[in-house]
Amino acid sequence: MTNITENCGVPELFGSLVFSEPVMRQMLPRDICAAIEHTIATGESLPSSAADVIASAMKDWAIEHGATHYTHWFQPMTGVTAEKHDSFISPTGDGQVLMEFSGGELIKGEPDASSFPSGGLRNTFEARGYTAWDPTSYAFIKDRTLCIPTVFYSYSGETLDKKTPLMRSMRAFDAQAVRVLRALGDTETKHVTTTAGAEQEYFLVPKELFDRRRDLVYTGRTLFGAHPPKGQELEDQYFGSIKPRVMAFMHELDEELWKLGVPAKTEHNEAAPAQHELAPIYASANIANDHNQIIMEMMKKVALRHGMVCLLHEKPFAGVNGSGKHNNWSPCTDSGKNLLKPGKNPAENNVFLLFLAAVIKAVDEHQDLLRISVATAGNDQRLGAAEAPPAIVSIHLGRELEEILEAIAQGRDYTEVAKDVLDTSVEALPVLYRDTSDRNRTSPLAFTGNKFEFRMLGSSLSIAGPNIVLNTIAADALCYIADRLESGDAPRTVVGDILKNHRRIIFNGNNYAREWVEEAKRRGLLNLASTADALPHYCDEKNVELFERHHVFSRAELTSRTDILLENYCKTINIEALTMIEMIRREIIPAVMRYSDAAAGAALRLEQLLGGEQPCYERELVERIGSLVSETMRLTGMLESALRELPNHTEHASCARYCGDTVVRIMEDVRRPVDALEQITGKDYWPYPTYGELLFGIQ
Ligand code: ADP
Ligand code: MG
Repeated sequence: MTNITENCGVPELFGSLVFSEPVMRQMLPRDICAAIEHTIATGESLPSSAADVIASAMKDWAIEHGATHYTHWFQPMTGVTAEKHDSFISPTGDGQVLMEFSGGELIKGEPDASSFPSGGLRNTFEARGYTAWDPTSYAFIKDRTLCIPTVFYSYSGETLDKKTPLMRSMRAFDAQAVRVLRALGDTETKHVTTTAGAEQEYFLVPKELFDRRRDLVYTGRTLFGAHPPKGQELEDQYFGSIKPRVMAFMHELDEELWKLGVPAKTEHNEAAPAQHELAPIYASANIANDHNQIIMEMMKKVALRHGMVCLLHEKPFAGVNGSGKHNNWSPCTDSGKNLLKPGKNPAENNVFLLFLAAVIKAVDEHQDLLRISVATAGNDQRLGAAEAPPAIVSIHLGRELEEILEAIAQGRDYTEVAKDVLDTSVEALPVLYRDTSDRNRTSPLAFTGNKFEFRMLGSSLSIAGPNIVLNTIAADALCYIADRLESGDAPRTVVGDILKNHRRIIFNGNNYAREWVEEAKRRGLLNLASTADALPHYCDEKNVELFERHHVFSRAELTSRTDILLENYCKTINIEALTMIEMIRREIIPAVMRYSDAAAGAALRLEQLLGGEQPCYERELVERIGSLVSETMRLTGMLESALRELPNHTEHASCARYCGDTVVRIMEDVRRPVDALEQITGKDYWPYPTYGELLFGIQ
């Protein structure tokens, strides 16, 4: 089974490389199959006796589909996935091999964990780390390898990955959501999971051009680059027709994803040239997180097959829209009911109103955590740059919902706003009703009909962190609501009280406007502008207590995570600065000197020919280049001395502060004379492909 046109249609192809429920039903005895289905549905543990049987069936199925190896596929704190491959072979003693895979090997692996970030939870001499099978996410085959989704933890039992706390946060949410439903008289619902759908933005650039830029190779973004004559100003790219080479890439990507059971659904061009988006159909947050990792990996792999490189950095090109990842989130019962669905009469729908109120309270109380969950060096380049929400967290509800909540808070009845009919002036068209509120594209967290869309994530971020925060803070607010309902308070009283205390977090206006920053300040909302401002608050006492209360992170785990994130931020800035210095000293200056030398030669010859009194463009050019080169070298020297200071900052938080305040600023300054040099240096001399070539290079 290779592709759609040769042998089969999409339904046959979909999930063909996944050890899914239908495959299990075919290959496993009925009782074992029932046990694993129960685990997947409820998150409860699987009897250990089942493991050997499942392992053997998995191996047979994988070998049938061309696999020779297996790997525990996990998500360490690097933010990407990790895998260590073992083949199935086992020697028989007579020079032959058998293909074997035991229950023990399925359940537990023991990779050397010493090179993964642990934030001081483990010293390098204590290398032991364990991976443990997550039976709630299906195994799949990639690169002839059976990939078994697993969690990763240390010898002493602390979590070292992103999957474990995500699963813990889902359990915490489940427990509190069910309490609220019970208090409202629901005796049927057993579990509530949170679902996520991550819209993924990315750029595609020609591989041969990518290879010629050290900045793209080392850091994923351009550190220099003058603005091209045409950018995105004509807005002719957004939703525009897709170029054949990109179309071929998208088709192949869809097929690869479908084989792996990832429901890739929507593909379109995005706002910037060479920018595109893919949105899958949503799934439970844990599965959606696995899917998003697979999507990012496949985008990179498939792009290479088409001679392109997929850039997942949140701001690959200065002055051009960056890439984000919208995380759509909602709570869903085991019978498939979305608890954030307003229904026909939201004003009377207590379940909906209480879950909505829970989000409002949660977000207002934990603005810091949502901001922290998206804080990275790359996202600092994007947030607040009038293409992405600012660093201030707020909620867009839309006019109708806000009015319903206000009416409840004031104890009066809500009068429904009548829906207008849109006048298209064309009778043949169907009657279209105008929604009672417009979409708000600028809000960091918008209610979009039956879900919240968290739009602050950068494109390369794992969605685990933001969903851990959303689940945990919502669980905490639901816990408060359940307490009040259980002690006899009426649902509407609780909703009204929450609105009264937390209405400042609701903002339906333009989040990109300057006035909002002022207004948010008046409202007392947080504005943690950069990663260095935000991250250290992860370990604030309020947050340690919150995560401990819901058994998502222990204090030690939270401290270690904060350290890892801060260290990662500093390392990223350091690599970027070193790359800049190398590019300037070894490529840009030598190239510009060659050009300047040619101009100087021409100036001399002209002077000989025409005499020194004539105005001479060549001489002016040499002078202009000379002054820009001096400026570049002065700032490069400053950057080098700033980097020499780094080792003096032994605390991660202080190092991050220094990187954010000093190093990043100098990097921005160094860029200016270099970009000016690019604009006056002959094309044949400039060592790099330009923005224009990168952004418009794919036809
Ligand atoms: P837009 O571009 O308007 O934001 P898209 O259709 O591109 O919308 O993407 C919407 C995303 O939201 C999809 O990934 C979709 O599967 C997801 N989604 C839809 N409903 C839910 C829900 N109830 N919970 C989580 N995600 C959802
Ligand atoms: Mg969106």
